Amino acid sequence: MTPPKNPPSTPPMTPPMTPLLIENAEIDGARAALRIREGRIADLGPKLRPEPGEARLDARDGALLPGLHDHHIHLLALAAARDSVACGPPAVRNASELGAALEEAASQARHREGSARWVRGVAYHESVAGPLDRRRIDALVDDVPIRIQHRSGVFWFVNSKGLAALNLASDGPEKASSDPDAEDRANGRLRRADPWLRERIGSTRPPALGEVGAELARLGVTGVCDATPSNGPEAWALLAAAKASGELPQRLRVMGDPSLPLRRTASMQCGELKIMLDEDHLPEEHALVEKIQRAHRDRRGVAFHCVTRAEIVMAAAALESAGGGPGDRIEHASLAPPDIVAWLARLGVTVVTQPNFLLERGDVYRREVPRHDQPWLYRGQGFIEAQVPLGGGTDAPFGVCDPWAAMRAAVRRRSAEGAGMRVEEEALTPEQALGLFTSSLDSPGQPRGPLAVGQPADLILLDRPWSQARLRLAPEDLSAVWIDGKRVWERGTPAPEPLTPS
Ligand SMILES: [Zn+2]
Repeated sequence: MTPPKNPPSTPPMTPPMTPLLIENAEIDGARAALRIREGRIADLGPKLRPEPGEARLDARDGALLPGLHDHHIHLLALAAARDSVACGPPAVRNASELGAALEEAASQARHREGSARWVRGVAYHESVAGPLDRRRIDALVDDVPIRIQHRSGVFWFVNSKGLAALNLASDGPEKASSDPDAEDRANGRLRRADPWLRERIGSTRPPALGEVGAELARLGVTGVCDATPSNGPEAWALLAAAKASGELPQRLRVMGDPSLPLRRTASMQCGELKIMLDEDHLPEEHALVEKIQRAHRDRRGVAFHCVTRAEIVMAAAALESAGGGPGDRIEHASLAPPDIVAWLARLGVTVVTQPNFLLERGDVYRREVPRHDQPWLYRGQGFIEAQVPLGGGTDAPFGVCDPWAAMRAAVRRRSAEGAGMRVEEEALTPEQALGLFTSSLDSPGQPRGPLAVGQPADLILLDRPWSQARLRLAPEDLSAVWIDGKRVWERGTPAPEPLTPS
């Protein structure tokens, strides 16, 4: 029995470019030292001789690991969620709790003017008060404009006051319209309307990206891929500004629409063309194939949003016709029966999964997903055995912004109520779960390889060896985090408020 380890000594804050020697760390299973100089791993070995002028840190056998990458996140939505009312479980579980939460927010909004008068709700699910429309929200609050986002991100629900503020008819379905969404809109149900809403309502204040960056740093996240489909030049500029000011220290990959600048620097890169598929509104296959081929001509991959069987079949068929490959991704792949997994493996496309949904939504899945489909939900080992490259992302703010919780969920595969979900068949080892979040931003799911001299110093230090940390997979074990050799978080820094409503 080894005695419990003392936490590593808290190192003094060092200016960014002072070289740092980390000693007595556990690196790839062996005790070693590592030198950070000018943002990179400059030296690595069992023992390194300290050099004049460099700071030293005794890791006390704590594991030194590559920084985590959240391969699927929505940064601006995560920032906006801070100013929003949680409208779904676990915070709000029924209609009366929803009414109380909205009334509390409305009581403050009544004193405000213009766009600041809007109440913004997030994370709604039908288990709270059934399908929402303007009348149901009016019954709870009818004197300030309210918009509530469904937890899937597909719909916004708006009350009558809100529809009036948006200049949308609210006195019955619009007549003689061939637009299938017109009736929904008149009832306050707006599908995929994020950019349009943003334009109409305007923002009340700039997004709090600094708070998002600090929270991610605290969790050991050193790089993210923003998977928002509507990302274009405007979102790029907001994110680039937050990057330049240091508010967002993380390395960024940005997916988005065709207008996104095809730029790439060491710290910020244009990612895949995001293609949303909605089972009820599937596009023509030839149109999809064209889209894929156009992206490929721009030397850009595509990333399909697929949560149902029909969506993933459509994506695989289109990728097959267009000539899909390793640069192309399927986001979520929530439902992946064996024949589809084999198809994806043949195509060589990557899957980016959210194991945290097993915990966060598992009980709803168990009640609502047909029994014969349940074995194929958010698979783990099933993809790995078929050699489909598998990366991980939290989908925050639609999932909880904590890759450690996602890793635990990939290993345990338990719903919040404790029901196992194909644990024997699909559970990942802690090492595989860590691997979901350490592959490089431009190739999720590809083996990362060991830490090596010359790599950017994006590192996390734990306060204990991996043999102990693997049993917990807890962010509480982090003691310091570096991005480009700059320490962006260390234990003792006060934790920012949680970002996801709970
Ligand atoms: Zn997403």
